[in-house]
Amino acid sequence: MTNPSLLILPGDGIGPEVMAEVRKVIDWFGANQGLNFDVSEDLVGGAAYDVHGVPLHDDTMAKALAVDAVLLGAVGGPKYDTLDFSVKPERGLLRLRKEMDLFSNLRPAQCFDALADFSSLKKDVVAGLDIMIVRELTSGVYFGEPRGIFEEGNERVGINTQRYTESEIDRVARSAFELARKRSGKVCSMEKANVMESGILWREVVQKVRDTDYPDIELSHMYADNGAMQLVRWPKQFDVIVTDNLFGDILSDCAAMLTGSLGMLPSASLGAPRANGRPAALYEPVHGSAPDIAGQGKANPIACVLSFAMALRYSFDAGAAADQLEAAVQKVLADGARTADLMGAEGGTPLTTTQMGDAIIAA
Ligand code: ATP
Ligand code: MG
Repeated sequence: MTNPSLLILPGDGIGPEVMAEVRKVIDWFGANQGLNFDVSEDLVGGAAYDVHGVPLHDDTMAKALAVDAVLLGAVGGPKYDTLDFSVKPERGLLRLRKEMDLFSNLRPAQCFDALADFSSLKKDVVAGLDIMIVRELTSGVYFGEPRGIFEEGNERVGINTQRYTESEIDRVARSAFELARKRSGKVCSMEKANVMESGILWREVVQKVRDTDYPDIELSHMYADNGAMQLVRWPKQFDVIVTDNLFGDILSDCAAMLTGSLGMLPSASLGAPRANGRPAALYEPVHGSAPDIAGQGKANPIACVLSFAMALRYSFDAGAAADQLEAAVQKVLADGARTADLMGAEGGTPLTTTQMGDAIIAA
């Protein structure tokens, strides 16, 4: 039998730094548990632009479509800020999401016991928190046309278009309901149906999918601005939240701070099941390339390590290995291991990226 295949795209900024720690984890599973992967590595984002003049080479795109799963670090950085939109690093990631048709982005917000004190909120608000935000990822205002900066009279106007078709809403609603069936059976859908046409259609279609095929699901609807407030006020009222691309981007960053740090949060982006039954899949930390700390050994590798744990669970049928890896992360945190982003005002000496990776391996 051939090994499952994994394409690693470290990308820019802290991407390569955190990915180096994941490579150690992958090697550990191979050496200690006979769990081997065909790992290949390639360029994405600014790193690809520097070599190829495009943020994602066609060959890399073809590889991504062929492998069982892609694991990505982060893209972008100030060096590329002035590039034309068509070759911006972020375009590499957007192309991957679009061509792999990764319409369902799963972002768990889970509070690790050892970090409950560290959250910006009171401990009872976050302790034991375990929610999942399902964000539509391939449509909406990040893709809608027309877009651009145009001349209008004697000034310029910047335009983006929020656009959703019924089928786009339908399939992401289904993925949220399927997920909810494996959890508490509760879904809250968020949009702005009070002020947006796309929001009206969103609410209607999500309700219809529920009424037709998921009558067992307890579905509620909430305006996204209220949702942001409720998420901070009492997040445990939610289990699965399903929302569009833009609101999902913002709400999941908000949920991230409930759990302590952006440096803790993994994500999975899934498409439709393929011939082998497995969905197209890309795993990546929620955080970006963090140019402010890149190259300093300060980055927290846990979000990327936990993204690999999600890959083990959702792409490689290796749930036991995923449990083991997550337990190792729980243990190092309980033992007091902290990178700089996980330290409060009390100070102390933080672990470097490499030291945190080593601690996880040891655990
Ligand atoms: P993007 O647009 O790619 O999402 P961003 O501008 O939202 O990027 P990030 O790169 O995610 O920003 O960084 C936001 C803040 O969080 C920065 O101060 C960064 O240093 C910090 N941060 C992000 N990831 C980590 C990490 N893994 N470890 C420590 N700090 C992090
Ligand atoms: Mg961001």
